[in-house]
Amino acid sequence: MPSNETSSSMNSSWEQQQLELKEKILRLKAERNAVILAHSYQRREVQEAADLVGDSFQLARAAQDTDADIIVLAGVSFMAETAKLLNPDKVVLHPEPGATCPMAEMAEAKAVREYREKNPETLVVSYVNTLAEVKAESDICCTSANAQQVVESLEPGRPVIFLPDRNLGDYLNKKIGIDMRLWDGYCPIHQRLTAGEIEEARRLHPGAEVLVHPECEPEVIGLADRALGTTGMVKHVASSPGREFIIGTEEGLLHKLRREFPDRVFHLAAEHLVCPNMKSINLKKILDCLQDLEPRVEVPEEVFEKARRSLTRMMEIV
Ligand code: SF4
Repeated sequence: MPSNETSSSMNSSWEQQQLELKEKILRLKAERNAVILAHSYQRREVQEAADLVGDSFQLARAAQDTDADIIVLAGVSFMAETAKLLNPDKVVLHPEPGATCPMAEMAEAKAVREYREKNPETLVVSYVNTLAEVKAESDICCTSANAQQVVESLEPGRPVIFLPDRNLGDYLNKKIGIDMRLWDGYCPIHQRLTAGEIEEARRLHPGAEVLVHPECEPEVIGLADRALGTTGMVKHVASSPGREFIIGTEEGLLHKLRREFPDRVFHLAAEHLVCPNMKSINLKKILDCLQDLEPRVEVPEEVFEKARRSLTRMMEIV
């Protein structure tokens, strides 16, 4: 095991390396007229090099509106695809194409198509955490930030299926008082958070407000003070008189919260709330992709227009 002195010099040389990478990225980004959009589950140093750190809806909106020639999307692959679908004329770079979302892969286009054929009257609402092929089979998309507005905008009386996240769908059913059918998908990161861990976090930090993501299990949501998407959590902290918060979502959000609210105290609800796919992007990969202008995101032509339509419907509502 390294001594304290050795480990602190290792840390400072790592920090120095990250600073140098960040400087190179910023220089190249300006030369290329590129913008870096990072999800709030990204590593701290990636967030610090980004032009915007936000949830999947904020990234989609920024990608749609940007004047930059190149979009570097530091997030998982469906986010990079979404950027390309919303702004097809731009070069969209995804620094690590292997950064996929396991939840998105729980809904396959073929299965969704078959469901539609058997249930032609049913409207299909897809969480943006889906592949472009699945978006192409959907009537409309949503994110956790706008899911309620999207669902409430649907034609009344039509049956609805929500996919792929059964926990978010269940949360919406209870909150709005509706009865959507739910696909059997889930986020493996949020799904692992247990009621016992919430109880233990409360015991360790009595008086702290508990905020969890609606991708958590219903039992966990039931024990929290609030269920909110990541932007909802940031907004809630801004307006809350509370000083201390237990956060039940991926640990990257704590960097953003600590940066924006240095006078508040944040505890991660459980140490395992880390998405390895989100964390597979780092500054070196961002620099490489800006240098090479690769890997570029392309969406198969046969699904492009239909996938774009279900996304733009969402963007028109919120
Ligand atoms: S945190 Fe969950 S939903 Fe988000 S990318 Fe990771 S696996 Fe997918």
